[in-house]
Amino acid sequence: MDEQGWSFACAACGVTYDASYTDYCARCGSPVLAQRGVRAPDTGPARLPGIWRWAGRLPLDPAQAWLSLGESATPVVAAPTLAKRAGVGQVWLKLDHLNPTGSFKDRAAAAGVAHALRHDAGGVVCASSGNAAASVAAYAARAGVPCVIVVPADVPANKLASLLAYGPTPIAVPGDYSRSFALARELARTLGLTNLATTYVNPHAVAALRTVAFDLVEQVGPRVDWVHVPTASGPLVHGMVQGFRDLCATGEATRLPRTVAVQPEGCAPIAAAFDAGVEWVTAWPQVTTAVSGINDPLEGYEGDGTLTLRELHASGGRALAVSDADILAAQELLAAELGVFVEPAAASSVAGLLTLAGGSVYGPDDTVVCLLTGHGLKTVGSEPARVPVAADLGAAMRVLGPLGPKGRG
Ligand SMILES: [Zn+2]
Repeated sequence: MDEQGWSFACAACGVTYDASYTDYCARCGSPVLAQRGVRAPDTGPARLPGIWRWAGRLPLDPAQAWLSLGESATPVVAAPTLAKRAGVGQVWLKLDHLNPTGSFKDRAAAAGVAHALRHDAGGVVCASSGNAAASVAAYAARAGVPCVIVVPADVPANKLASLLAYGPTPIAVPGDYSRSFALARELARTLGLTNLATTYVNPHAVAALRTVAFDLVEQVGPRVDWVHVPTASGPLVHGMVQGFRDLCATGEATRLPRTVAVQPEGCAPIAAAFDAGVEWVTAWPQVTTAVSGINDPLEGYEGDGTLTLRELHASGGRALAVSDADILAAQELLAAELGVFVEPAAASSVAGLLTLAGGSVYGPDDTVVCLLTGHGLKTVGSEPARVPVAADLGAAMRVLGPLGPKGRG
């Protein structure tokens, strides 16, 4: 069934679904994807806010633009020092952590909650290690629909606090993200909720991630040679690549960027499959990374990883595993040298760039984008700050000592 020229079909077996369907394929368990059959007008009503600006390119109803919180159209900034280190023409940082709730997930949540409203769902449910839950809770609050959030029990305290502010009904599940995801999926079926986990489970949410490509071509230009993407199961990879395909079809983009999915070494199911040269991604046996947000072992939905892997190959890109130490070093570099404070997961894109720098991967004139997906403020520790304490001026003067250039006296 079509929704403004869109159809919804299983990526593996081709079974088609009604636009109201938001789950994996009932026949084979693979992701169901939004596809545009009859090509809709290429631009949405230009004055609409957020992702609704692109309503002509997405399965969105312009009448629901009131739901927008200003998601998408986040800034890009040049990083000439990174370009020099990588030996490329230009490096651009896409500041997607500056979305309304502090992560790129707002793009998907806006579209997903709009879909739930259109189809009179009883509410929404989202399993998330933090960012997606905050996004879904925020848009559900704006829409006035019930929202259940399922989080892994070890989610960072500050991420939890920032999502609870939006007033959802939270449940914590012991174990890795896959356990939370499985429970959320059961709740969706049992309670008639729309599942807005940012795996591939919801085709409307995945389709909304095309807006990253729409932004980049507008902001960086028609030629982007590489995009580095922090990756768990990879709907951001898929959505962005599909968006670039749309732009190539209309002539607005001159090429499909080579896409690099960056994963932490302690949970890298897609990178492991890429390195092994196999077509199928298998679940990661034991998560050992401390990088929250991209520590998804894909247990029970390995097909998500396989779909992402296929898109990476189709783009001429690759998957890459980087160490937690390299991710934290990239996070520190971004904040201390470039003034951009993101969470560790987001910095993995830059860690990937620096890992591949100096090899034969990039061309000297290449234009490279690193997506920065989540804000640093959410992952600042909840322990007491490790800075000197001073109760009054005298104590402060004693703590500070003589001020002068670093390294003296
Ligand atoms: Zn199927």
